[in-house]
Amino acid sequence: MTIVDKKKIGEGQTLYQLRILEDNYTYLLSWDQKALVVDPGEEEPITKLLETEKLTLINILVTHHHVDHTGGIEALTKKYGCHVIGPDDNRIPKLEQSVAEGEELLFGPFKIEVYSTPGHTKPHVIYFFPDLHLLFSGDLLFGGGCGRLFEGTPQEMYSSLEKVLALPDDTMIYCGHEYTVKNLEFAASLEPNNPAIQKRLEEAKRCVSEGKSTVPSTLREEKETNPFLRVDTQALQKAAGVSDPISLFAHIRTLKDQT
Ligand SMILES: [Zn+2]
Repeated sequence: MTIVDKKKIGEGQTLYQLRILEDNYTYLLSWDQKALVVDPGEEEPITKLLETEKLTLINILVTHHHVDHTGGIEALTKKYGCHVIGPDDNRIPKLEQSVAEGEELLFGPFKIEVYSTPGHTKPHVIYFFPDLHLLFSGDLLFGGGCGRLFEGTPQEMYSSLEKVLALPDDTMIYCGHEYTVKNLEFAASLEPNNPAIQKRLEEAKRCVSEGKSTVPSTLREEKETNPFLRVDTQALQKAAGVSDPISLFAHIRTLKDQT
């Protein structure tokens, strides 16, 4: 099985982090022998975990339509008859309930706030647990980086990231991919004199070499080291010769796409 982490988050409540496909993460939350999964890109590892832990899958939460986040949905719904929730997008298989900005969901003990975060894909949402300070960020925000702009503009993506910036600093960010080392290498090339980036890069390299996950990070760490959340800082603006955050965001996103 591909569990990289198993964390108790409350009485009888567990968060499992699973590594699937090439470099994706999918997540399973359990309570009272029930479960919900976030972005099941594959069916088999989730089924195995459900069987081992004797859990019943009730819900699937989806951040966006890409197949590495939705590839397991058909088989899981067939097997468990679970309910699929995600942004309004007919490319998401078996979607039964679409969610939008400001909606609140309740599953057992979990309260979840939905934020609409277009940019990587046009419909894209993230799921924030206000009681636990826990965020499933899909392909909006990664460790040290952000998603590519497949369907949105730099303005849209930056506005989406600003919603994350407004969350508490100790928010744990559970993202869709293990990209942290490459992202921080890029961050270090933009800010070679930022000690926080160097330190985090070394730690991330060590984690990966030991077969561990660099995810989750905290929002505080991202604010200190993630260039896409730092486009309003003078250090980055001066280095690029650009004075507004959106142009700088577009500039560094283009640079990153070329790496
Ligand atoms: Zn994606």
